[in-house]
Amino acid sequence: MSDNNIINMSGIVRESIVDGPGFRFTIFVQGCPHNCPECHNPGTHSATGGYKISVDNIISQIKETPLISGVTFSGGEPFAQPTPLAKLSKKIHKLGYDIICYTGYTYEKILFENDSEKIKLLSNVDVLIDGLFDISKRSIDLKFRGSFNQRVIDVKKSFKALKIVEIQF
Ligand code: SF4
Repeated sequence: MSDNNIINMSGIVRESIVDGPGFRFTIFVQGCPHNCPECHNPGTHSATGGYKISVDNIISQIKETPLISGVTFSGGEPFAQPTPLAKLSKKIHKLGYDIICYTGYTYEKILFENDSEKIKLLSNVDVLIDGLFDISKRSIDLKFRGSFNQRVIDVKKSFKALKIVEIQF
């Protein structure tokens, strides 16, 4: 098994109701370079913590969780592990589930950086919730995001329109 099939993981919540619409199988990846003040999940920051798990192991767990309406990638920073997460995304889509992905990067930054592995991950998720958590823009009224600067982006429509298409949950 190559390392491209291994994800450094902080934890899994099989039926989350806070990471997108419906019950979501949420994976919290380990490792985040952003250090947002008052981050809700500081235990995920160290790239050397967590545990290692294969893409196929996660797919098996998803298959054992039939009530979900989709899968969410959270963290930690999913775009710090783009190669195995892009592989995981393709297998999740084959099971018929949509994918929401959180990231501390902006959509524009990911495109501008032009890293082929990150672009591959971006093009294999359905919804991107982007941007750093900003405590000065925090609101508890926001659904599935922490601060006003974060956007909920329909990735497929944005690629097609060549501009950011935001959606509301
Ligand atoms: S991007 Fe998310 S996990 Fe990373 S520091 Fe910011 S709020 Fe925390």
